Amino acid sequence: MKIETLAVHAGHAVDPATGAVSAPIHLSTTFERDVDGSYPHGFMYTRNNNPNRQALEEGISALEGGSVAAAFASGTGATMAILQALAPGDHVVAHVDAYYGTSRLIREIFLRWGLGVDFIDMSNLAAVKKALRAKTKLAWMETPSNPLLKIVDVAALAEIVHDAGAICVCDNTWAPVLQRPFDLGADLILHSTTKYFGGHCDVAGGIIVAKNDNEFFQDVRRVQYAGGAVPSPFDCWLILRGMRTLPWRMRAHSENALKVANFLMQHRKVEDVHYPGLREHSGHEIAKRQMSMYGGMLSFEVKGGRKPAMNVAAKTKIFIRATSLGGVESLIEHRASIEGPGTTSPEGLLRLSIGLENADDLIEDLDQALR
Ligand SMILES: *Cc1c(COP(=O)(O)O)cnc(C)c1O
Repeated sequence: MKIETLAVHAGHAVDPATGAVSAPIHLSTTFERDVDGSYPHGFMYTRNNNPNRQALEEGISALEGGSVAAAFASGTGATMAILQALAPGDHVVAHVDAYYGTSRLIREIFLRWGLGVDFIDMSNLAAVKKALRAKTKLAWMETPSNPLLKIVDVAALAEIVHDAGAICVCDNTWAPVLQRPFDLGADLILHSTTKYFGGHCDVAGGIIVAKNDNEFFQDVRRVQYAGGAVPSPFDCWLILRGMRTLPWRMRAHSENALKVANFLMQHRKVEDVHYPGLREHSGHEIAKRQMSMYGGMLSFEVKGGRKPAMNVAAKTKIFIRATSLGGVESLIEHRASIEGPGTTSPEGLLRLSIGLENADDLIEDLDQALR
């Protein structure tokens, strides 16, 4: 099946009990045992598993071309589970440009826990090679990155990491459908489903998809039900509903973002535009190889730094000033002031999550805000 068809049908079946075409939400926390003590439907207690969570895990796993998946209450909860499946003393190589919350989680919790970590610029393959050690168990990549949309060559990196006997995680939150990490050699895919999967800024979630159901994934599964950071049945239902329109939304987000990026490129008050779909972007050639379209996220730098940038964000009428991404409405965000001290974001940078409005209206809005 092609991906649009998978998105509509994976994880969905007509409800055998009622004929309902849209799946029911199973709120029950507990499930009946048979007289012989078995669980005839495979469910026992909702933290361990639940019909809606199972459907979500099967659906997203099928969409990504994986074998199994484990869903969590947030993207960060999913990240936490991968790191907890490691052991104190293990070493991790993480992209220096990884999501801010991911590097904070590592710095504030997992260093104390005894994980060894090196943050490396993964666009520099030689630097990655040098950082790998005997104890390196895992490499954490993310592409396109936040907020500069830097591109990492997933296939080249996976080869180096596998040669060293470690596994590769790809945070694919920014480019679901558009980028196929398993085809490029990744072993695990992480999504914050809060973003494009949910797609409407109304549900938080995260998921880990594994290419193979191996020992490492079973450790992740153990963290899921023993740790308990599981999503509610309603949240699972909303995220799976979001998935049904995901391929078409990603196409529209990408088309709109390219138009907005081209507009910003020629604007005299704009210093720089970061969008991998632009020929001028440093990662464009790699992006062209590993992405089918370039996604809905971009950032640009306003000439003059922080104050003029804040002024632009203050004047937009359609773009909403808010963090997060992946919803139908366009968002604008001054990233440096969100991240605070230690940010790698330039002071004049504004990040845009391009929504599903008409691109001409978005361009007109930015044009008047820049005036
Ligand atoms: C938002 C995000 C996360 C964290 O997900 P939450 O659902 O907010 O916990 C991780 N990675 C990327 C790339 C993100 O954008």
